[in-house]
Amino acid sequence: MADNIPKEQWAQVVEKTGGPVHYKKIPVPKPGPDEVLVNIKYSGVCHTDLHAMMGDWPLESKMPLVGGHEGAGIVVARGELVKDIKIGQKVGIKWINGSCLACPYCERSDEPLCGGALLSGYTVDGSFQQYAIGKAAHVARIPEECDLEEVAPILCAGLTVYKGLKESGARPGDTVAIVGAGGGLGSLAVQYARAMGLHSIAIDGGSEKGDLVKKLGAQTYVDFTTSKDLVADVKAASSDGLGPSAALLLAVQEKPFQQATQYVRSRGVVVCIGLPAHANISAPVFDTVVRMIQIRGSYVGNRADTSEALDFFRRGLIKVPYKTTGLSKLQDVFNLMQEGKIAGRYVVDTSK
Ligand code: NAD
Ligand code: ZN
Ligand code: ZN
Repeated sequence: MADNIPKEQWAQVVEKTGGPVHYKKIPVPKPGPDEVLVNIKYSGVCHTDLHAMMGDWPLESKMPLVGGHEGAGIVVARGELVKDIKIGQKVGIKWINGSCLACPYCERSDEPLCGGALLSGYTVDGSFQQYAIGKAAHVARIPEECDLEEVAPILCAGLTVYKGLKESGARPGDTVAIVGAGGGLGSLAVQYARAMGLHSIAIDGGSEKGDLVKKLGAQTYVDFTTSKDLVADVKAASSDGLGPSAALLLAVQEKPFQQATQYVRSRGVVVCIGLPAHANISAPVFDTVVRMIQIRGSYVGNRADTSEALDFFRRGLIKVPYKTTGLSKLQDVFNLMQEGKIAGRYVVDTSK
């Protein structure tokens, strides 16, 4: 155990569904035998944290709740069963905080599908506090040379889009549509796509997001707020006019989920990742059959996906476009996010 672990710490606490968050002092938790205590330095703010506070999903959360699941920090204490993590090591608190490691899904490294999975910032307290608990088997091993502020968004946004691109089956040279490309997940998806040898058609709204995604490497930008025929515009943006091979749906609205099945090329794969409240996805059966369209869900990633996503970052292939503010200002970040005004990601500094 490190010296000078305080008894109390600053945290942002959701006391009731609908919010807001309350910035206050709470006790520092103690790690169990198979857990580590992480001094969180920075945490990314994911749209999932806002969904959790607003009670958007048919999945019960803990309440009161400390949200956050892109927490980058340093191990300060460990339980007696933990052997392979050192005090002072850089680790990340990600969405999957723990899993049973024994069920048929865990056996096949599909930990996100484990019925006993613990979710950081949802079913267990997450990274919007200075000291957070993670199961030692699951905390992300952050390479020592990585900067904790820059790497934080890789722990959910980076991991999730990297996994989604793998699930899309797209191959080097193929084109993918990235829907919600100017947001936290999207701005990283454009870069993972480029690093994986894919072309991308970025879809989002407004010129600030358009400028950002082009700078990050998107071939074309389609503005959903001004396009008169989005399906035609996306198809036209692919090199042969047949449409992209896959679409990664990261937007927090239902409509783009219906559009994607229309603009992907035949045999195209629609990968659902964004989780808008109360949304459904539907597609015409005839078209889906005769064009052999696949619709898939993709949910974060397992521990190997986490290491791989972090390694792309370590190699300098991914530059997270982020702004930093204090943990005390989290509600302001949520307000901007609700209005769709954040290009890239916000990171909170837990010391402020
Ligand atoms: P964000 O708010 O940063 O980004 C969403 C983006 O979608 C914004 O830039 C917004 O302008 C854009 N958008 C809105 N309507 C659009 C439309 N009609 N067409 C194109 N773009 C549109 O959010 P985020 O943090 O990137 O998260 C995105 C979603 O992904 C959330 O629902 C979140 O809960 C979900 N998520 C899922 C997983 C998973 O494992 N499946 C993991 C992390 C996040
Ligand atoms: Zn997330
Ligand atoms: Zn399991």
